[in-house]
Amino acid sequence: MARKLYYVDPYLKTAKAKISDLTIKGDKIEVSLTETIFYPRGGGQPGDKGKIRGDGFEIIVEDTVERDGEIWHVGKLNGRTPEVGEEVELELDWEWRYGNMQMHTGQHILSAVLKKRYDLDTSGFNIFGDYAKIEVNGELNWEMIEEAELEANKVIIDDLPVRVEEYEVLPKGVVEKLRKYIPNIKGKIRIVRIGENFDLTPCGGTHVKSTREVGVIKVLRFYKKSKDTWRIEFTCGFRAIKKLNEILKDYWSALDAMPNKNPPLSERVREVLESVESLEEKVDSMRKEVWKWKEESLLGRSIEIGHYNVVTFVEKWDIKDAQAFAVDFVKNNPGTIVVLASEDYVILARNEEVEVSMKSLLEDLIKEFGGKGGGTDNLARGKIEAEPEDVIDFVVDRLREIIGA
Ligand SMILES: [Zn+2]
Repeated sequence: MARKLYYVDPYLKTAKAKISDLTIKGDKIEVSLTETIFYPRGGGQPGDKGKIRGDGFEIIVEDTVERDGEIWHVGKLNGRTPEVGEEVELELDWEWRYGNMQMHTGQHILSAVLKKRYDLDTSGFNIFGDYAKIEVNGELNWEMIEEAELEANKVIIDDLPVRVEEYEVLPKGVVEKLRKYIPNIKGKIRIVRIGENFDLTPCGGTHVKSTREVGVIKVLRFYKKSKDTWRIEFTCGFRAIKKLNEILKDYWSALDAMPNKNPPLSERVREVLESVESLEEKVDSMRKEVWKWKEESLLGRSIEIGHYNVVTFVEKWDIKDAQAFAVDFVKNNPGTIVVLASEDYVILARNEEVEVSMKSLLEDLIKEFGGKGGGTDNLARGKIEAEPEDVIDFVVDRLREIIGA
């Protein structure tokens, strides 16, 4: 296993090492080293990125993972194939790592405040680039979040030292102060101590050396994940600026798209929704009016086949509206069959008194012209490979055959 230089000094941005093992698949390469500054994914902190350079090759490290007791630097190879034992130079993507260190230390502070103030235990933690997520058990509301956030930012201003202590056996004075209970230890354990006694917690990640370096802690949102688990999304440091800009840009452009551009946005959205609702009501009543007229005019030119009335017409409506009309029509008019055709669809509907199956009528259409579709005895729809007028003529002829009139 590589010597973990990121524990010796988490601020190391470059180092030298030798390749101890490697695998190559296409242009994808994984190398392990004699020592490394690359932190492998774990404890909610993402794996490091950066570059590994040798004589005649360069590896762009996209992720670092720990597997089978070894740290693997995963990425793309440029240049010749490296050999085991070769010396290489390591260079971290420091912006990425430092952002993760700020975020990770920020998480310790926020979790400690939530524990102290509200006795909330943090059960999960994950960094996702610009923001991170923790899970806590218990109830939460905005007032609690605001208070906790303010207090966490005071801890940042207080510039408390962040130190890492390693133990084989935990001293009594340390055990009592731990935020998390640890049942038993195997081997060495790392305790991250913030201030003298502000927070002590076991952790294997990388952290900044003083709380002030976290810059800022900003909660972005929180929501209930399950019965008593809440998720809190937050961000720290430079990433906070980036993330908040993203959110603000979205906020202001949404407000700008409103008919009334004065904040707050939530009120403007409510207004728009209300006007949509009243428009929908108007459209609905107008649609019913139109349907009534349409129904009367169609009935006036319906074809009598046996003791049924067959109504046929070509329409350009949206299929949803067309189907709603057809269903409404046959419901209101006993003994009617509706044949509604368009360039894109055909709808066949019958009043419940009618005994001819719409589904089998559609099947006859498909057999004659080709197409697809389906439905029930009462209502069938599909797409037929023929002109709407030909579809209608065929159905009328077929109905005459079936009904025998
Ligand atoms: Zn940590």
